Amino acid sequence: MTADANQNILEAVDRFFGDEVQFLRRLIQIPSENPPGMYEEVASFIDSFARQQGLKSRIMETPPDVCRLEGVEGGKRLNEMTMAGERSKPKVLLLAHLDTVPAGDKSTWVHEPFGGEIAEGKIYGRGACDCKGRIAAYLFAQLALTRTLDEIPGKVMMAATADEEIGGKTGARYLLERGDLTADFCIGEGYTREVFNGFKGLLWVRMSVQGKSAHGATPHLGVSAIEPLQDFLLGIREFQGRLHSDSTLNIGLVRGGTKINMVPDSATVEIDMRLGEGDEVEKALDELQLLAERTQRRHANAAVKLEVLNRSDPISIASDHPLVTIVRSNVQEVTGSDIPVRLWFAHSDTAHFLKKGIPSVNYGVGRAGIAHMPDEHIYLDDLKVATKAVAMSVLKLLGGETAARKS
Ligand SMILES: [Zn+2]
Repeated sequence: MTADANQNILEAVDRFFGDEVQFLRRLIQIPSENPPGMYEEVASFIDSFARQQGLKSRIMETPPDVCRLEGVEGGKRLNEMTMAGERSKPKVLLLAHLDTVPAGDKSTWVHEPFGGEIAEGKIYGRGACDCKGRIAAYLFAQLALTRTLDEIPGKVMMAATADEEIGGKTGARYLLERGDLTADFCIGEGYTREVFNGFKGLLWVRMSVQGKSAHGATPHLGVSAIEPLQDFLLGIREFQGRLHSDSTLNIGLVRGGTKINMVPDSATVEIDMRLGEGDEVEKALDELQLLAERTQRRHANAAVKLEVLNRSDPISIASDHPLVTIVRSNVQEVTGSDIPVRLWFAHSDTAHFLKKGIPSVNYGVGRAGIAHMPDEHIYLDDLKVATKAVAMSVLKLLGGETAARKS
């Protein structure tokens, strides 16, 4: 039965692929840049399209007082949800977002940011990948199921929420807290050629040194703040060499001194670490603290200070969790190739779901390195692959073996 059901899904996605591409182009042509956050037109476009296709749909506003509490200003924050299936369980949520980052300087684009242009098998525009391509894939996956099954053996919801690009507190997290997005499984925005089973740890630190100024020709009368910093950075380099291959360390900012002929009385460095398999946030912080203490001992006249600017522990489900294996095997069924399972370095709203204990992965349309860039685009092939793989995965997660086929 599943083999048949899958065959029908594959055919339905192929048959309606022209509509899917048109839907995505139109979606790109409706700007939803955040800031400022422009939701009304994009939400109502999806809402009326979904209704025309026979899905249930609703638009929910995040209340202004919630936005005010979170410091989010501007127009209405709207979330759009489409539903299919009469039974309440099991429930699969497909999670995307309505907002995009701003198009930025248009002169850096070859293609029109809000044109939805198609060239060389790709669709271009702000949000083509992040997150409108995913909205199209998730919505048409949902439709592939309603078009091919007599009855959905559970519930499948697509949510395109507000404000993911500014942390999701006034979008997905708000709806999740209210219970509107509770689900047994969640598939959220991601790429076509890899599946993310969670997120890397993050650690941002600032090391600052206070010294004493003096004339550059009499350095012995002052205390250089740059020399301890130099020492600290040598230690960082050595520490970096001991990290596992999945972890990264970026020295993002170095500042110090006033003028060539003055002894520098202050210096600062800021470091961004993303910690993957094998490294821990707590241990990394301990090492940095030891390094700062060593620097202080060697430069007793300067004052060395280490601050944590931001940290979050990694969060994930097992790389062989059924949700991961189902998505992975369905991608393989569609493309014939296996895809890697990794932890993601970026923020995504699925982190809020993992914290609530809802098994979540990130999988969708697009390839790494094109979101938030000029000439953002997706490959049409990726759109088709993701739509098929997501629809088949949802069916499997709903226990689709027993689903009746539409004759
Ligand atoms: Zn996104």
